[in-house]
Amino acid sequence: MTLLDGKKLNEKVAGELAAKIKKLDPKPKLVIIQVGDLAQSNAYIGRKIKFGEKIGAIVEHKRFPEKITQEELIGHIKIYDQNSSVHGIIVQMPLPKHIDKDAIIDAIDPAKDVDGLTSRNLKLLWENKTTNYSSSERRESRSSRQARTINAGFIPATTKGIISLLDEYKIPIEGQNVVIVGRSFLVGKPTFLAFLNRNATVTVCHRHTKNLAQITKSADILVFAAGKPNLIGKEHVSKNQVVIDVGINAIPNEDGPRHKLVGDVNFAEVSKIVKAISPVPGGAGPMTVASLFENLLEAHRYQNNS
Ligand code: ADP
Repeated sequence: MTLLDGKKLNEKVAGELAAKIKKLDPKPKLVIIQVGDLAQSNAYIGRKIKFGEKIGAIVEHKRFPEKITQEELIGHIKIYDQNSSVHGIIVQMPLPKHIDKDAIIDAIDPAKDVDGLTSRNLKLLWENKTTNYSSSERRESRSSRQARTINAGFIPATTKGIISLLDEYKIPIEGQNVVIVGRSFLVGKPTFLAFLNRNATVTVCHRHTKNLAQITKSADILVFAAGKPNLIGKEHVSKNQVVIDVGINAIPNEDGPRHKLVGDVNFAEVSKIVKAISPVPGGAGPMTVASLFENLLEAHRYQNNS
């Protein structure tokens, strides 16, 4: 069994990005916008700040009170859009109920949308025009940037991290049967598109899927993003499969009040059967952070025409 080590690849990417950033002036800058004070959001943001500092990027964490209005929040985002020292802007989800997440996301300049979630970036993902697409695509995007539009979109960070992990371990994607469990806006759907763009045959399962085990057992590559601890056990997998576990679930720790993090997969059971698997923690999570900063460097490149 091969462990798909996201922590190790995160460190490798950190080294590469740090070497690039050393030569850059101005330094790439990411603004993280948070509304409210959710503990889980704080933890995710903390990891992004730590990684950013490690590689020499500038990260500004801007926290707004829970009661901020949608218009006020859009006003703040527009100011960052126009600030040329800011290269990337992300809004930490979830947002409070009184705020329309789509209106907020689409207030971000697509050229600074390093989470790849604006309508423009998602359309580019649909069209298979992303920053990893080809070098000619990149050239095109740089020249068109001056017209304040981008022609090569950012791949959402979790999705990009999954693909990078497979590429690092030289796991072929083209022509493979990929099964994704989960169809969320942030993970399942963009991941479906990214695999399709890499010429895989993709099936997306969700809570209404019948005979889940029958479908998952026939896959070459499995991606689990349902947010359900122990959803996947030995009955769902077969040998020679590659498993990426994107679930991040906090469950009570048996020997203490503290919580521990587990994925959607029963790792002890499944890792005995499959060919390769990413652990939780240490798999998709650290890759999400690394991929976000790869996108920030792409954004910096667009904006500085370098
Ligand atoms: P995330 O943000 O981690 O992607 P969401 O909570 O937004 O997670 O979405 C969960 C996804 O997982 C949904 O698409 C849902 O249909 C899927 N899902 C949840 N439970 C099951 C289940 N028992 N079997 C299959 N899919 C499931």
